[in-house]
Amino acid sequence: MPYVKEVLDYLKRTSPAQNEFYQAAEEVLESLRPLILQYPKYAKHKIIERIVEPERQILFRVNWLDDKGEIQVNKGYRIEFNSALGPYKGGLRFHPSVNAGVIKFLGFEQIFKNSLTALQIGGAKGGSDFDPKGKSDNEIMKFCQAFMSELFRHIGANTDVPAGDIGVGAREIGYMFGMYKKLSNRYEGVLTGKSLKWGGSLVRTEATGYGVVYFAKYMLEDRGESLEGKKCVVSGSGNVAIHTIEKLYHLGALPVTCSDSNGMIYDEEGVDLELLKELKEVRRERLSEYVKARPNAKYTPIEEYSHGCNAVYNIQCFAAFPCATQNELNLNDVKNLLKNGCVCVSEGANMPSTLEAVHLFVESKICYGPGKAANAGGVATSQLEMQQNASMTSWSFEEVDAKLAQIMKNIYLNASTTAAEFGEPTNLVLGANIAGFRKVADAMIEQGLV
Ligand code: NDP
Repeated sequence: MPYVKEVLDYLKRTSPAQNEFYQAAEEVLESLRPLILQYPKYAKHKIIERIVEPERQILFRVNWLDDKGEIQVNKGYRIEFNSALGPYKGGLRFHPSVNAGVIKFLGFEQIFKNSLTALQIGGAKGGSDFDPKGKSDNEIMKFCQAFMSELFRHIGANTDVPAGDIGVGAREIGYMFGMYKKLSNRYEGVLTGKSLKWGGSLVRTEATGYGVVYFAKYMLEDRGESLEGKKCVVSGSGNVAIHTIEKLYHLGALPVTCSDSNGMIYDEEGVDLELLKELKEVRRERLSEYVKARPNAKYTPIEEYSHGCNAVYNIQCFAAFPCATQNELNLNDVKNLLKNGCVCVSEGANMPSTLEAVHLFVESKICYGPGKAANAGGVATSQLEMQQNASMTSWSFEEVDAKLAQIMKNIYLNASTTAAEFGEPTNLVLGANIAGFRKVADAMIEQGLV
């Protein structure tokens, strides 16, 4: 069918130099072929052509003063992609690699992810090319305030509710919330991932990582397998990686790796979670410091990774959890994983696997949970935070965790039954993309041409 190529050509022509966005679009469009062929209404209403265009893109300048009193200038983004299912929702990323293409790929993925949660949330993403590494607490506050001094006019509890992502955790959400409150004179649930002391939800911090592991558990259970006693590899060492490791321990698995952008740790006895949290959440140090406290563990700097491979995926494992960043896992990495007997991959990061890697995972028929399904627990729990804010109540840890587990189970069942409906029962990429798309597309048709 020509439409994938046509739409991609159109995107490349009209939105140049947005490679990550083309990649995300290609994966989704490829999956939608059987649906589009079977149901002409989507072509008739030009849903594909409409869904690849954001409803609104806000690009802005962020000026701030660093500790030396010098003026710094960064780029700010908020891409409100699709509101058919509810207020825009999606995280903010602060990282030097951020550009319009990265935010667009994340926002596009977010549409389908949010749809899969079965909650009423539309898709968006935002952020800045600001690099938080090495910045003082005062500089982080100054930047967050400057960023919000423009963003505040575009968001609101019923219009657009941002959350965290890479480089944006509870501290940054706090500074942004403070500025929003001052400028708007409103105390409302306009951001999620807030501190537990003033409107946050229990389990929100843990939710993405916990959800990724629940997703793996449900995929494996369907094949009569479990994570108990199994060796697992995890990449990244931020919020998602840390809570993936934590939940793996809860389920009796043995996570043996973690990584950052400088290198990886292989700790054969199991990653020391308390040490990792201390390093990353309290001391905010590099992972290379880990081996000082755990001399038996091995640190491999990125310069020593063998050509074209991520060293995390060279380690023999039963299951792998990519939790760092986009395109961290390529075709060679999949080959290494499969050669070493890995039977389950559940993605914590957004689009961590290249398109070729995704194709091989699907072909291999191992349990493969694509990010937009497997990491949806974070945004789902954000929506639970919005529900609690709106009703001025708060639920217990156990209550929210149970809701999260149920949501992850429903997402798995939705993706797997949809995959089966289209004749490829093990292809959760197909299942998640079609299930996520169908709900949004039907809502767009029912809401008319707006
Ligand atoms: P954090 O900022 O907390 O952590 C990111 C981690 O990934 C850091 O350890 C970082 O290392 C590492 N990393 C970044 N780039 C690389 C790289 N090239 N190679 C190896 N490690 C790298 O972010 P999160 O944990 O929140 O996010 C991680 C992923 O999960 C992202 O893809 C994000 O979009 C996705 N996600 C996050 C959600 C959330 O709720 N937070 C929800 C759904 C998805 P370093 O410190 O060196 O940069």
